[in-house]
Amino acid sequence: MELTINPTDYRPRLIIWEIACSCLEGNSSIKKFNTKECFTIMDSIAEISKPIIVLASNYSENSKCDPLDRADIVDILLYGNSLGLKMIVETSGEKLTPDLRSVLKTIGTKCIRILINDHIKEDIESKFVQNEKFNKLDNLINQLKSEGFEIQLGIVLNSFNERELLFIVDYAVQKSSKGIYFHLQNPKSSSKLKKISYNKEEAINWIANQKKLLPDDMYFSPQCIKYGIKHKEDEENGETTNHTTHWCLSGKTFAYINGKGEVQICNSIKNVCGDLRKTNLSFAQIWYNSEIFNWLRYNNFSCTETQISLTRPIPKSSESKEIYENI
Ligand code: SF4
Repeated sequence: MELTINPTDYRPRLIIWEIACSCLEGNSSIKKFNTKECFTIMDSIAEISKPIIVLASNYSENSKCDPLDRADIVDILLYGNSLGLKMIVETSGEKLTPDLRSVLKTIGTKCIRILINDHIKEDIESKFVQNEKFNKLDNLINQLKSEGFEIQLGIVLNSFNERELLFIVDYAVQKSSKGIYFHLQNPKSSSKLKKISYNKEEAINWIANQKKLLPDDMYFSPQCIKYGIKHKEDEENGETTNHTTHWCLSGKTFAYINGKGEVQICNSIKNVCGDLRKTNLSFAQIWYNSEIFNWLRYNNFSCTETQISLTRPIPKSSESKEIYENI
């Protein structure tokens, strides 16, 4: 029996797109998508939905690439806006010159997401270490705010240190940031520079608990996760307990496009759901036909369960669901 889900019931609401990627440097066989190709990909996305598209760079390689390196970034944003897509640039901010900010304002960009990795550190006297990195970031954020941009902050979670994160949260609240977006990394993988060694579930649960303490209108989450409450009945005393749980949204409302043009589960789980270069740049084709996405739609996995389930061949029949459940 085939998996009984209807892929067309699922629409992407958020796509992270590595539009600038260091993995293509020196790779003569794969070129980054040109402007026209980017437009075609966006056409295909807009056919099925009008999601948020975060134009990003490669997180795990700690690359110096930035979406704003692209000379056609304004054209891409403009085109996405014209299709009704909600375009966001995630940038380190270094290339956000006054001229570029003015152009972004003119084309209707309301929100900028700044990657703040390693920029905010605790200081006993001044609260935040006042080094060059911090001062540049702080000035930029003040400037953007005074120009009317909404600020979001992005963090690549290469490690999990509650105290460090609390200082970042404090900073975000102080700056009236609209959200902190966590990019979870895979603890079993290692980037070229750093071994990643935190417990993802612990970090995800910590984020859920912090959310409750933050302003209601502030977004605070990995973008690929939905939190919820699970009710559990104790068979002996009949009491019901509630606890926070989460589900991976990949394939349901979330997808990730890597710098080579492959659609992945997310940045940290590299299983390829399809290659845009092999589908005539049709994102829709991959979204609907990917066996991996359909497998994830069929299951409500947590982050770790998603990772574990993809280390084995994907069952084709619904009966095989038990195979995973017995792991
Ligand atoms: S497996 Fe799912 S929940 Fe975990 S990081 Fe990837 S997309 Fe997010």
